[in-house]
Amino acid sequence: MDFKRLAELLFPHITETPDQIEAKYPRRTLPEGAKVTRFAPSPTGFVHFGGLFPSTVGERLAHQSGGVFYLRIEDTDAKREVEGAAEGLIKTLAKYGIHFDEGAILDESGNVSDKGAYGPYKQSMRGPVYQVYAKQLVREGKAYPCFTTEEELDELQQVNKKEEIKNTDWKAEAEARRAEMLARRSFTIEEVEEHLEAGHPFVLRILANGDPEKKTKFTDLVKGALEIPENDEDFVLLKSDGIPTYHFAHAVDDHLMGTTHVIRGEEWLPSLAKHIQLFSYLGFRLPKYMHIAQIMKLDESGNKKKLSKRDMGANMDDYTRMGYCPEAVCEYIMTLLNSNYEEWHMQNADKPYTDFPFNIKKMSTSGCLFDFGKLNDVSKNVISRMSSAEVTEKVTSWALEFDAEFGQALAADPSFAESIFAIGRGGKKPRKDLATWADAKDYMGFFYDNFFKIEESYPDNFDRADIVATLTKFSEGYDENDDMNVWFDKIKAIAESLGYSSDMKAYKAEPEKYKGSVADISMFIRLAVTGKTNAPDLYTVMHIIGKEKTLARISNMINSLK
Ligand code: GLU
Repeated sequence: MDFKRLAELLFPHITETPDQIEAKYPRRTLPEGAKVTRFAPSPTGFVHFGGLFPSTVGERLAHQSGGVFYLRIEDTDAKREVEGAAEGLIKTLAKYGIHFDEGAILDESGNVSDKGAYGPYKQSMRGPVYQVYAKQLVREGKAYPCFTTEEELDELQQVNKKEEIKNTDWKAEAEARRAEMLARRSFTIEEVEEHLEAGHPFVLRILANGDPEKKTKFTDLVKGALEIPENDEDFVLLKSDGIPTYHFAHAVDDHLMGTTHVIRGEEWLPSLAKHIQLFSYLGFRLPKYMHIAQIMKLDESGNKKKLSKRDMGANMDDYTRMGYCPEAVCEYIMTLLNSNYEEWHMQNADKPYTDFPFNIKKMSTSGCLFDFGKLNDVSKNVISRMSSAEVTEKVTSWALEFDAEFGQALAADPSFAESIFAIGRGGKKPRKDLATWADAKDYMGFFYDNFFKIEESYPDNFDRADIVATLTKFSEGYDENDDMNVWFDKIKAIAESLGYSSDMKAYKAEPEKYKGSVADISMFIRLAVTGKTNAPDLYTVMHIIGKEKTLARISNMINSLK
C-alpha cells in the first residue's frame, strides 16, 4: 500500500508537518526536578470531589517543585458538554486553592480564554494539530481509515455488548474480533478513493502491532510496578468528525504541552497499554503516570462503594451550600491523600497545608474512604483556629446567601456577633462547636430574640418548685457588675439553700445526701436563658445578652412553669 498517497487522500488540507508543530511548542526551560502537571477535565457539569483529588495532587506537585500546573479543557465530546461548565469549574477550583499557572483561564469579562504559550488549551480548538500527527501516522502505515458510519459503529457496539454477555467462549470471541479487525485492515487505495468521492465519513484507527501475550514492565508512581500487556486493539484515533478520542488527544497534548506527570483517576489504567503504544508510534517520550485510587464511601450496609455523582459530598457545590469552608475541605483532602499529613499537622498546627511536603510515596494505592465525620472533625479544628472576626465575616456571608433572615441579623450588628464568636476562642484549647457555617445558627442563634426558643425541657426528676425558686432567687440577686466568682458564689448559695450540693466532689462522694448539685442549679438557669442545657459559658452569655434580656427570659420561664 502506498501510505503516503493514502495520507494525502485522507488529509489533503493538512500541510503542516509534525516538525513544524514541534517548533511551536519548544521544550520548557524549568529548574531540575520541576514537574509539569495538568488538570484535564471534561466540562460535563459540576466539579466532583473525585476531581478535586487529582487536581490537588497536580497542584501540589507542580508548585512544590517550582514547576507548572495548567488547565486543559477536554471538550472533545460535544454531546456531553454542558454550557458554562468550564467557567464554573475554574471558579470552583479556585475556591479550593487550585490555581493554574497557565491554560484555560477566566478573562476579565468572565469568559474562558487562554494564558500561556502551549495552547490552545481547549481541545475543541486543536483540531488541525491532531490531524497533523494523524496524517503522519497514516504516512508511516501506523493508522488507517475505516469507512463505517457512526450509526453502524454504534450498532456494532450494541451487538458486541449483547454478545459479550451471552458469549462465554472467549477464544472464539477473540478470534472473531481478530477476523473483524483484519477485514477492516484489508482495503485498497481505490476503495478509499471511491468512499471519499461518495462523501463517506471515516474514523481513523491505529494499526496495533502488540502481542497481548507479551507484557511490558511499567512503574506507576502510585500503583507501583505493573505488567501491562501489549495493545492489539485497533482503537479509534479520530472520530468521523475529525475530533480525536481521549487516547489520541492525551498523547498529542501531553507531549506538546510538556507534561512530566500525568495524574488521573485509576479508571484510565486499563487504557494504559493503548497510550504506551501510541506514544511509541508517535516517537514521544512517555510521561510519568500516577493513577489515583477512587474515592469510596460506605453504603447503608457498611460495604465500600464508589462515591458516585449522586452521592452527598460528590458535588463541590454541595459543600458551599452546607457551609463548609474550603480550607477545611482542602485539609481533609490532604489527610486522605497523604497518610502522614495529620502527624505533620499536629506538629505544625499554625502552618497552612501548602507548607506540608506532599509525598507521592505516602499515597494510598487502594480507594480512600470518604467520611463526613472525619471531615467535620478536621473542619472543627480549622474553624477553631480562626479569629472571631474571620468567623463572623464568614458565617455572615454564608448566611446572607443561604439563610437570609439569620444573615441579616448577624449583619445588623457585626460587633455583637463577633463578641459571641469570641467565646472560648484564642486560648490553648479553643471551643470546637462549628464544623460548618450552617452550624452557627444552632450554636448561637439563641443570642437573638428572633431565633431564641426553649429547645429542651427540664428533666422530670427535678422538683418544679426548686426550679422556680432557683430562677427567682437568681433574678433577685443578679448584679451585672459581679465578677465571675461572685456570680458563681451566688449560684452556689442558691444550691445550698435548696438542698443541692455546692461542692461537686462532696456530691459525687455521697449523691444520696442531696437533691442534686450546683451543676443542676446552673442548668436550671442555663435552660431559661439559652433555651438549651448545653451552651457556651453562661456568665459570658449573660453579659453579651445584657441584664434586661437575661432577666426577661428568666421571668418568662418562671411564668411558664407556674
Ligand atoms: N478528560 C479526562 C477525564 O475527565 C482526563 C483524564 C486525564 O487527566 O488524562 O477523565
